[in-house]
Amino acid sequence: MDPTPPPILLWVRRDLRLADHPALAAAAETGRPVIPVYLHDDAVAQLGACPRWRLGLGIAAFARSLEDLGARLILRRGPAPEALAALAEETGATDVWWTRAYDPDGASRDAAVADALGARGVATRAHPGHLLFDPEAVSTGSGGPYKVYTPFWRAVKDRDVPAPLSAPRRLAAPTSWPDSDRLDDWAMGAAMNRGAVVVAPHATVGAEAAEARLDRFVAERIGAYAEARNMLAIDGTSRLSENLTYGEISVRTCWHAGMRARAEGAAGAETFLKELVWRDFAHHLAHRTPRLLDRNWREDWDGFPWREDADAPEVRRWRQGRTGVPVVDAAMREMFVTGHMHNRARMIVASYLTKHLLFHWRIGQAWFDDCLIDWDPASNALGWQWTAGSGPDAAPFFRIFNPETQAEKFDPEGRYRARWLAEGQADPPTTALSYFDAVPRSWGLSPDDPYPDPAVNLREGRQRALAAYEAHRGSG
Ligand SMILES: Cc1cc2nc3c(=O)[nH]c(=O)nc-3n(C[C@H](O)[C@H](O)[C@H](O)COP(=O)(O)OP(=O)(O)OC[C@H]3O[C@@H](n4cnc5c(N)ncnc54)[C@H](O)[C@@H]3O)c2cc1C
Repeated sequence: MDPTPPPILLWVRRDLRLADHPALAAAAETGRPVIPVYLHDDAVAQLGACPRWRLGLGIAAFARSLEDLGARLILRRGPAPEALAALAEETGATDVWWTRAYDPDGASRDAAVADALGARGVATRAHPGHLLFDPEAVSTGSGGPYKVYTPFWRAVKDRDVPAPLSAPRRLAAPTSWPDSDRLDDWAMGAAMNRGAVVVAPHATVGAEAAEARLDRFVAERIGAYAEARNMLAIDGTSRLSENLTYGEISVRTCWHAGMRARAEGAAGAETFLKELVWRDFAHHLAHRTPRLLDRNWREDWDGFPWREDADAPEVRRWRQGRTGVPVVDAAMREMFVTGHMHNRARMIVASYLTKHLLFHWRIGQAWFDDCLIDWDPASNALGWQWTAGSGPDAAPFFRIFNPETQAEKFDPEGRYRARWLAEGQADPPTTALSYFDAVPRSWGLSPDDPYPDPAVNLREGRQRALAAYEAHRGSG
């Protein structure tokens, strides 16, 4: 009888699914034992509170789904090069495969792992799977990255996107399974001082739930998506960002569902496809122009007189949903309670912080890093820089969203605001009250408090922002 061939280590990161997982499918196809592994390294330790807690739920769900294939998810702690080298030695694995990461930190970590393992004679391979289009395979005529969305969309919209792969039915097991940490010991929810119990009912975890979510969206909402996606009180979008960010569903699966809906005449399908391409565009930019993530993408914005005090009282009021601008406060509370915020609301609160209050976009980005269940490094950075004016394809700075006009247009009956603001309502809904269960006691908030006065007069805030912009332009 042939000896058991050496195992393949499958290093899992933001790809917590069995279906349409090119690395997993390729590993299964070899017939060799496959040992899936998740590492608690710096990349995990540095996640904000809500993304780390949510990641823990995703890991647990993925581990359960592997059991159905006769496999296990091995959990280890430590820097990836050392942890994977140790595991390869213990198990006799000769190959380590993963789904390629494109963000600069992820990419440099992958390069370090490839070097360290290569030096020990362990082969490594990065498979596609996180995006629709490899960022390096989309370039302008002069070979550079795209800096504006619409030409990017035009460049990719007719490209062939391979059909999703099926999940393997079984994975060959190694002769013995290596030891694994216990997920509970990782305490992924430890930083959730807002109370995981409040946020948990709003999470939709795991690949099966993600696929059901996509099916429901296509069956019930994609037709009206182009208009409904902007309305704050309507459940008009897919909510798939939560699953896409952890890879619980592949973006190709979403793309093909959108393409089928478009072929069947669903009016909103094209808009949905375009939004999926915004996600790719964010990663394209983060990969090819990494300053997107932490510096003004437009260098001529360096020196803009942003206010930088992250502990300023206005920033605290913004984080706490107490600015006195109802639509801003409703949105900030929605995020605190559910880990999600409506896309239009994200633009409104980001514009308010960076323009009316004139604080640096990085202050807002950092709070979103901590609070979002769908946190994605590229999409979050692009969203902030796009709104603030310092980013690619940005809204011009002088176009300042008026939150009141936005609310009249996108929440005309005030249902969104009533859903999230308890103060002043005789009988507030449970959503609005749940915010007060979620906030740390140290914030000292009560639904019986009076609703606060505006942190800044909107007209004055707008004028101050425009003056800062003119002065900065004049100094350039
Ligand atoms: C300040 C700011 C911060 C943001 N931070 C994040 C973030 O951390 N993670 C994140 O996934 N998105 C982020 N976005 C983009 C967008 O708000 C969310 O993707 C969207 O609200 C998710 O809801 P949905 O899944 O129902 O989207 P749908 O409307 O159903 O769209 C389908 C999918 O397309 C993608 N998509 C849609 N809009 C965008 C966009 N503007 N940029 C990139 N991808 C998009 C998402 O993957 C989304 O799931 C941010 C936007 C702003 C303005």
